[in-house]
Amino acid sequence: MHALVLFLTFFIGFCIWIFDHQFQLAGFDKNRLFYTQSDYGLFQCSTPCHNKTYDNEDFIHKMLKETKDNKIPSYLIPKCPICGKEMTTNLRCDDKFVEDDGWHKAANNYQKFLEDNKNKKILFFELGVDWNTPGIIKYPFIRMTHQFDKAFYVCINNGDNYVPDEIKSKSLIVEENIKKIINSIKK
Ligand SMILES: [Zn+2]
Repeated sequence: MHALVLFLTFFIGFCIWIFDHQFQLAGFDKNRLFYTQSDYGLFQCSTPCHNKTYDNEDFIHKMLKETKDNKIPSYLIPKCPICGKEMTTNLRCDDKFVEDDGWHKAANNYQKFLEDNKNKKILFFELGVDWNTPGIIKYPFIRMTHQFDKAFYVCINNGDNYVPDEIKSKSLIVEENIKKIINSIKK
């Protein structure tokens, strides 16, 4: 029951790092999302020559429609409207990641959410985060759980989980398939 209450708290809260765009598609309020590492629903210049991202949904649908033998016609390769070079997905995989106005707005919203709620009961609910880039979500969640008096940390993952002694009493680790857990909470 404890987990369920925390889970519901999460859904009126904030979500970070959702690079596959599924939260937007599921109708989650855009103003409560922070795609800190990437958003596959956006294109950016591959150079990048300017600091802007572009919604790519129409493009992707056209590509899917025209795909033959896993290839698209070359005229469908997205080109930067400023410099004409190829576009790429807005993914932080090197030093070319574009943080546009929307990204900064989302970053500010996230910081404000933390500031406004740090003294309330706050849940850091981590789903399927691995150790690839722990400095983005995992370590900050653990650190803030330690710092904020009423914070609680829940981590659902298939394995490879770790929680420092300092927050053991304020955390719940569930080593299980996420889908299974979510479905059982819904029931
Ligand atoms: Zn460009």
